[in-house]
Amino acid sequence: MALATLQEVLSIAVESNTAIPGFNIDNIEGTEAIMDAAEEEHCPVILTVGQGAIKAGQLEHLADLVKRIARESTVPVVLHLDHGISYEQTVQCLRLGFTSVMYDGSHDSLADNIRESQTVVRSAHAVGVSVECELGAISGVEDGISHKNVNLVDVDEVREFISKVDCDALAVGIGNAHGMYQGTPHFDFDRLQACQKLSPPPLVLHGGSGTPDDMIRQAIKLGIRKINVATELRMAFMEGLESTVGQRDFYQMYRTAKENMAALARHKIQLFQGKL
Ligand SMILES: [Zn+2]
Repeated sequence: MALATLQEVLSIAVESNTAIPGFNIDNIEGTEAIMDAAEEEHCPVILTVGQGAIKAGQLEHLADLVKRIARESTVPVVLHLDHGISYEQTVQCLRLGFTSVMYDGSHDSLADNIRESQTVVRSAHAVGVSVECELGAISGVEDGISHKNVNLVDVDEVREFISKVDCDALAVGIGNAHGMYQGTPHFDFDRLQACQKLSPPPLVLHGGSGTPDDMIRQAIKLGIRKINVATELRMAFMEGLESTVGQRDFYQMYRTAKENMAALARHKIQLFQGKL
């Protein structure tokens, strides 16, 4: 099937009170592993290209890969830019055929974030592409970028932002962080509920790696409709490679890495779909 937009798959999640996975992709094998899991579970999937992959020179390769995979896929696939760093980068992705772009202005002032987000939305919507924005900078380290800000979103800022920016999804900081958590994370669910009462666009949880299943269920119950997982998938892949390194069998190493990653992706999908 053709690539789907973020808005299209999130409307499925809104109707079914589930969350769609936003899985980061870095290479062909990992992308295939995620697609194996998504097709097996009949679940739409958001294939996300992050800043680490872009820095590694993978932007165009991954865009081509996802477009080919989507044509052959039995489930809706979104080609999504994660944490777009500038208006220019989002435009580059529009040209490459992305069906969704995230613009992350959460580290700027609210006024600047609103202004830049409006510009991205205007360009993306003109060509039928969805936009995710962010409020309450999500902390932790992602793709080598460290975010030290306090990451609790201000509910009044959410109210103002959504009255001015017609985005299709909004990532909020509620105590979530990128990378793996040291110990159990603490999510401010009251804050999430207060955001949800404002009837925002579908809300997004970044930093899904290592979040206890119960907290994921609660977040979905309170309106989270997209959950990002990157680090945990990469770790599953690397652990697969490490477990076979002594065998010195190139293809067996990749097979094991893919199977490991697909098993984790299946678990996350089942959890996000309310099956676990
Ligand atoms: Zn993120």
